[in-house]
Amino acid sequence: MTRADGGRWVCNVNVHGVGVPTRPLEEGEDEVWVSVEQLEGLLDAAVGRPEVVITFDDGNISDLEIGLPMLLERGLTARFYPCAGLMGEPGRLDESDIRELHAAGMVIGSHGWRHRDWRTLGRDPVGAPAAEELVRARQTLERVIGAEVTEVAVPFGSYDRHVVSALRRTGASRVYTSDGGWARPGAWLQARTSIRADHGGDFPSRVMSHRPGPRRRLRGRAAQLAKRLRG
Ligand SMILES: [Zn+2]
Repeated sequence: MTRADGGRWVCNVNVHGVGVPTRPLEEGEDEVWVSVEQLEGLLDAAVGRPEVVITFDDGNISDLEIGLPMLLERGLTARFYPCAGLMGEPGRLDESDIRELHAAGMVIGSHGWRHRDWRTLGRDPVGAPAAEELVRARQTLERVIGAEVTEVAVPFGSYDRHVVSALRRTGASRVYTSDGGWARPGAWLQARTSIRADHGGDFPSRVMSHRPGPRRRLRGRAAQLAKRLRG
């Protein structure tokens, strides 16, 4: 990618847990749990690349213990999306950890309340489960950091038109998915690519090397549209 493209595309890369897990993992979580070396490689590659956005989902304690020092060493900032209802559980960030990330200049957004699949919340966006996941979670994080929390990252990247409409109605300013590929900087829906345990050392250069060509762009848009419309 050339510098001239920098303002037109962003490359969002998502991180889950890092290092040795300190809690029993949920099903499939080991597939996205990466090594310290993998995170180092990713962050090294992001230095001097303002179009690369690093996000951390799930509020694992490794965000603070491993991710934050590595980011600060490199002069990078990242966006963190913890689940408000899991704060303080074993292996997860607690309130003061989240305040520490925020005080260090990191952006705090919401990943919902208890890591539920938002497609199962029911159709009523102000019904109890949806209100907890989409409203209470954000309000709780706002209380914790003493600042507005308007961004969300969708658990499991699972959304449909009902989720999209509930997110719009509850005032989310930006929504990170897991659709892969690059995104327009101002887009409300931001596709991300997750770093996975089986990714080799060439992952950062592969994911960051080119902005999408017309064909990939079209494919990405078609996949996103299909999810936005399904219900
Ligand atoms: Zn998650």
